[in-house]
Amino acid sequence: MNANRKILFIVALMLIGLAVATITNVALNFRDYGYNNAIEKSKMTAEIVRDGLTAHMVNGIMDKREFFLSNIANIKDVQSLWIVRSQTVIAQHGLGLENERPRDAIDRKVLQDGVIVREIHEDSKNAVLRVTIPYIASAYGSPNCLSCHNAKEGDVLGAISMEFNINDIRLTGALTIAKIFAINVIFIIIALWVTNYYFKPYMKLFENLQQGIKRARTGDFTFRFKTTLTDAGSEVAEQMNTLFEKIEDTFGGIKHNLNTFSSHSNLSTTDPLSTAGVIIQELSDVYKFKKTIELDSSKDAIYERFVYVLREKFHFTHFALYEVDKMTKERKLIHISDHKSFCLPIADTNAMECRAYRTASDVYSTDFPNLCANCAEDKAYTCIPFNINDDLSLILSYSAKSSAEIEKMNLFMPSIKNYFEAAKAVIESRTLMDKLRDSSLRDGPTRLYNRRFLEEFIDKSAEQALRSNISYAVLMIDIDFFKMINDTYGHDAGDVVIKSLAEILQQSVRKSDLPIRYGGEEFLVLLHNTTPEGAMAVAEKIRTRFSEKKFQFGSDTVQKSLSIGISHFPLHADSIWKVIKFADTALYEGKHNGRNCVVEFEARMYGEGDQF
Ligand code: GH3
Ligand code: MG
Ligand code: MG
Repeated sequence: MNANRKILFIVALMLIGLAVATITNVALNFRDYGYNNAIEKSKMTAEIVRDGLTAHMVNGIMDKREFFLSNIANIKDVQSLWIVRSQTVIAQHGLGLENERPRDAIDRKVLQDGVIVREIHEDSKNAVLRVTIPYIASAYGSPNCLSCHNAKEGDVLGAISMEFNINDIRLTGALTIAKIFAINVIFIIIALWVTNYYFKPYMKLFENLQQGIKRARTGDFTFRFKTTLTDAGSEVAEQMNTLFEKIEDTFGGIKHNLNTFSSHSNLSTTDPLSTAGVIIQELSDVYKFKKTIELDSSKDAIYERFVYVLREKFHFTHFALYEVDKMTKERKLIHISDHKSFCLPIADTNAMECRAYRTASDVYSTDFPNLCANCAEDKAYTCIPFNINDDLSLILSYSAKSSAEIEKMNLFMPSIKNYFEAAKAVIESRTLMDKLRDSSLRDGPTRLYNRRFLEEFIDKSAEQALRSNISYAVLMIDIDFFKMINDTYGHDAGDVVIKSLAEILQQSVRKSDLPIRYGGEEFLVLLHNTTPEGAMAVAEKIRTRFSEKKFQFGSDTVQKSLSIGISHFPLHADSIWKVIKFADTALYEGKHNGRNCVVEFEARMYGEGDQF
């Protein structure tokens, strides 16, 4: 039902209600009026009869009363009239006429109780009011009843019964109601016509507004509002048209830009305004994320923030973030949410085993089961590669118990990529900074860490080692008679020997150990959590390997030796610098004892007078 019809229906309903109330009221009033009228008539008739009979009695013409009563019975609307005598009067004056006997139960009841009875007998054709009024003996009337009747005050002397035909009243009432009904119907029709005439343009405008707003919800603001109204209604239409024109101009531009984000698959396509709202909110979130990570000092802090976004914004619970070094093809785990990766560790040492990295495209387990040979078969998962620069790629893997669940998570993919995109430049710049910093901490020719790195790193590491009960063995290494190489074969030959030793050091220690170029041809190696025997074995391995190495300088084949001093932290001292000094002392001892040897520090080597 449209709005106009609804209003007409409501108005009609109200008017019909009013008409029914009016007609009911009139009908009830009419009935009361007719009834009361008949009762008044009956009272008057009763009085006339009583006074008439009294006059007949006083004048001694009581035997003529029938004529009098039959005349009274001719009064309009009086259908029948009769009187009855009480036992008191019968006892004094006899039974009276035949028709003066009680005719029914009402007569007998009134004679007995002395109380008026009124009853309406109604059927579809006739309506009759029956009234029976008692005559009560009283000494205070005029004339005094007791002067003629052998009765007591209050005795019932007789009664008069009348039947009034109230058909006329009923008929008149019905006619009046019919007239009122007809008037009401005419009034309702006129009222509805007037209402329709004045309201229709407003309702049309309302429907027009509805139509326009419905189209606006789908992003179509081309609708223009029309009205025949000249008052506030036309103003509304005009203002709406101006508003729509403005939105059409502005929104056209926004819509065009929003198409860039059309990959936003979890957005409604029928409501571009709320789509715009969601996208703008998303862009604002991504912008805030970008602004924040720009101030983060390290790549790791950026990764942590990204992990936070995945956990808190996208509610991911099972996911892992990896960093791939494109040069070495090593894949490093940055974060894993539940310590249980669904990806085999083989891809850690060779990133080419990771399908997402190798193909540089998203991997969905929902496309094919067992799509990536290195991922658990019983899991639903998605892996997204994200290229940062020529050196670095990131891989995000997330999993779920069912394909339906992972598909839900995949809806976030475009948003997640926006975050990746925002982080790309910042991660790139942090990588560059790390590289620069790394190069300032490394020795150019050997690529080993330099003394500056040791100075920055060692105090913190030593503190942590003390707290965590970790030990370090310090090897101080110096090539024997190195100067001779320089002097005999030149500086370049010396460099070759130095680089060769650096390689031997890297090959002889574990990943957790740290070889450092300490000075010209002096090297320091920190061995992580090693026993004195273990340290000695490593040192011997280095010494032997180096001494076996043959250098070809021109026609000469040259072999060199080196000496190593060993000390232990915190066994020999709780200051790491002191331990380094002790290693140097042991080295000096080795040089003193003939070189090409490994010497472990002993307390006796460090005299009391020696300065640290
Ligand atoms: P010792 O057995 O007592 O250690 O004798 P040595 O000749 O090795 O004496 P020392 O350790 O004092 O000599 C170090 C020499 O190494 C001095 C310096 O000219 C040379 N040197 C230092 N750094 C470099 C470098 O980077 N390249 C080359 N070719 N020589 C270097
Ligand atoms: Mg030296
Ligand atoms: Mg030397």
